[in-house]
Amino acid sequence: MKLKVLGSSSSGNGYILEASDGALVIECGMPLLEVKKALDFKIGHIAGAIVTHQHGDHSKFIAEYLKSAIRVCALKEVFDAHALKQRIFCKEIEPMHGYRIGTFNVFVVPVEHDVPCVGFVIEHAEMGKMLFVTDTMMFEYRIPNLSHMMIEANYSDEILDYNIENGITPASMRPRLLQSHMEIKTTENILLSSNLDTVNDIILIHLSHNNSDAEQFKQRIMQKTGKPVIIAKRGVCVDVSKEPY
Ligand SMILES: [Zn+2]
Ligand SMILES: [Zn+2]
Repeated sequence: MKLKVLGSSSSGNGYILEASDGALVIECGMPLLEVKKALDFKIGHIAGAIVTHQHGDHSKFIAEYLKSAIRVCALKEVFDAHALKQRIFCKEIEPMHGYRIGTFNVFVVPVEHDVPCVGFVIEHAEMGKMLFVTDTMMFEYRIPNLSHMMIEANYSDEILDYNIENGITPASMRPRLLQSHMEIKTTENILLSSNLDTVNDIILIHLSHNNSDAEQFKQRIMQKTGKPVIIAKRGVCVDVSKEPY
């Protein structure tokens, strides 16, 4: 099982979980062409797409995916926000419900963003169980027996303070960030209060362009958890098979 990262930032989010018997697209924030290229144009291999919320960096290209007959699973609010004319391939999902998408099982968990947003627990025989959490101020669930964790590490308070003092980030952004995105300490606390025994790797996602430091975040989480840490960015491909590599 491979995880291919098409994008992981406020400029656009898109990920593919590619198994031998199908592929699951996570987020429609990157053009479908990027997905096609990553799958060598085997579009029939796609079992479906799951979308966390309506913001453009996660759902901008949703109509493209639907037009190509890819089943998109998302909250009702996501489809409403895009004012879609036809909803043939739209599958409305609800928090605390589970769905079968091809050979993938997806359980939907609620998170805390400034619009309705969800996280996912994704299971596949070749991968084990993966947590996917982004665009949230916190995450209260502790999921047992995870093989992989994809979790937001958006900003650090120290870098944000420095950037506000130096006019790089407007001060007005702070209240929004506090209530909608995960600070690195929050990410760290979630990881350290989780049972990581079965976790093969931690993939940090949706880092802020200005208010994060990828290398610092990686070292910090690696040292605190003792697990391999990967920073998700465009072009990254990770082996997310069930057993550690
Ligand atoms: Zn986002
Ligand atoms: Zn968002």
